[in-house]
Amino acid sequence: MARFCIRSVVFVFSLILVVCGLLVLRKPAEVDPQAYPPVSSEMHLKPLRSFDVIDPYAYHGVYYKAQLHVHTDRSLDGNWSVREALQAYRDAGYTYVALTDHDKVTVHHELDDPTFVIITGEENTVPWPFWPLGCHILRLFVETHETSGNAQKRIDTALSAGGIVALAHPSWVGNLQTGQWTLPRMLALTGYQLVEVYNPHSDPVEDTRRWHELIRRLGPNRPVWAIAVDDSHSPERLNLGWIVVKTDGISQEALKAALRRGSFYASTGVSADFGVQENRIMVHVHSEEPAEIRFINGSGASVEQVAGFSAQYAPSGAEGFVRVEVRSQSGEMAWSQPFWLVPEAN
Ligand SMILES: [Zn+2]
Ligand SMILES: [Zn+2]
Repeated sequence: MARFCIRSVVFVFSLILVVCGLLVLRKPAEVDPQAYPPVSSEMHLKPLRSFDVIDPYAYHGVYYKAQLHVHTDRSLDGNWSVREALQAYRDAGYTYVALTDHDKVTVHHELDDPTFVIITGEENTVPWPFWPLGCHILRLFVETHETSGNAQKRIDTALSAGGIVALAHPSWVGNLQTGQWTLPRMLALTGYQLVEVYNPHSDPVEDTRRWHELIRRLGPNRPVWAIAVDDSHSPERLNLGWIVVKTDGISQEALKAALRRGSFYASTGVSADFGVQENRIMVHVHSEEPAEIRFINGSGASVEQVAGFSAQYAPSGAEGFVRVEVRSQSGEMAWSQPFWLVPEAN
């Protein structure tokens, strides 16, 4: 009997080693754009003769700095207390900070005040093939850790609790490469509204490319907005990526509304204004030095590139959508949300 048990344990252990080995040796998914599913006719990129440019920034409000991905020592790999983390973000000029410990909801409102709002949330692991391997999602504005179900269920329970969900670090090669959000997986899910295009633990170029491919397929009626985050675990990794969000007042509800409608941009240091005037997309960079401002169409091509403090682009109608990337001379970035072209309203 004892021998049978030992054999079983050895067999299971060997099986786990083989599975892990195969995962490690597997070629990283989707580094090749050819691996993306073909573009369908549903694509919303048809040329338009008369159109409106949708402006996600055309709402009343003031811009504030927000951090949506922070770990504390309530995560196994976190190296600062909840209070230390929140105080550091408050000192760094943030108005909104979300606590997103691994598979654990952290509630802390001692430092909440009219100028500083703490968002309760978690970074949830979707186990595959078994916990702690698998992809990560940020479940924001939720009070309960979700322990079961597939990714869709974990998204759905966050939404039904009034939360907002982000897919974390799409091309992250950690967790033995089980942590990647491939494009087919992202397309198969619904309900999430945010995707990280910048996370210091992932590749921002590839993450931006996956987000771009995702939004061109989902179209203007299923918006998924870009966020930049710190994914911080200690005081040394603070203030690397954030969003600048336009909220009407300072409150959880104001932040939620802005996250749902896309009234924010992702940043690693560039401060800018984005908007639309008479169907022209306008960009103004707040900087001492000229920056590189790039307008990118729905097909992923640069349609205009300007070195300066401001730029504008008048779409021809063939772009599908236009988004803007700004790069400072020292390499800091800002990502606008997409400005969709839609048939002109009568
Ligand atoms: Zn993660
Ligand atoms: Zn994280």
